[in-house]
Amino acid sequence: MNSRQDLAERSVIFVTLDSCRFTTAVSARTPSLDSVGPLLRAESAGTYTLPAHVAMFNGFLPRPDDGVYPIDDIPYRAVWRSGSARPTTDLVAVPFTGRTVMDHYAARGWRTLGAGGVTFFDNTDPGNLLPSFFQEFHYFPNTGNGSPSGPRDRTAELALSHAHEIARRCLEFDRFFLFINCASTHIPYTTPTVRLTPGRRDVLERLYVLHREKAAATGPALTSDEISEMLDMQRSALEWADTQLGHVFDTLRDRAPLVVVCADHGEEFGEGGRYGHAHPHSTVAVVPLWCGLLR
Ligand SMILES: [Zn+2]
Repeated sequence: MNSRQDLAERSVIFVTLDSCRFTTAVSARTPSLDSVGPLLRAESAGTYTLPAHVAMFNGFLPRPDDGVYPIDDIPYRAVWRSGSARPTTDLVAVPFTGRTVMDHYAARGWRTLGAGGVTFFDNTDPGNLLPSFFQEFHYFPNTGNGSPSGPRDRTAELALSHAHEIARRCLEFDRFFLFINCASTHIPYTTPTVRLTPGRRDVLERLYVLHREKAAATGPALTSDEISEMLDMQRSALEWADTQLGHVFDTLRDRAPLVVVCADHGEEFGEGGRYGHAHPHSTVAVVPLWCGLLR
């Protein structure tokens, strides 16, 4: 069996680290992710969750700077590539036909499972498109420690707090496509290990306003110390996610899955005068990506 056929037959773990900046990934300690492959600097096709995921679910992952996704030392030009895309002679790991990558796997007998994440994945809202792409989707609701959006501590509503049960569910199937949207790196950046303090709550309340305005800040924005504190929180949120993903990887390692982990988009902290995402600044477009095989 050659490598391409081998890749196409593998189970899949696909994780999006919502809003995680590339610079955050550079600064973080991520042994689990580093065990998958090298950290790559890539550019996302979308500036916020919905278009970024629609693109990715159609095979358009963030593109590494050199256009290469190295898997098992082979320089693939795409991990998944839709049959409805322009014809190409590029080296593609898993060509597919069908509406989405998940449809392709489901049609061939894989179980497609999703978990997470930010509110675009709330499958109790019939207006949300993204969870409908999966045979089963697990959205963990806010458990009453604050409004669904706003500064709050988070544990149970983070999908990766349920890493063990998500991974064990995959083991019930011969082959699986597991997708997780990791919300820990999304504002408010809180995790079971990084809680709100009065100071963080104050900065986050102002940051939410700056995000909502989606315009150059007109009043006093954040100080450099306050921005550093927020970036430290995102780094800690990524490191927590890395630990939790380590549990997922350990449980599913025997299946030797293909793994792709990336951000859907980044986050601006005033570099171009704005805060948040959903606008085309390089801090939003540039994201981290890891891909490879679990061994
Ligand atoms: Zn997002």
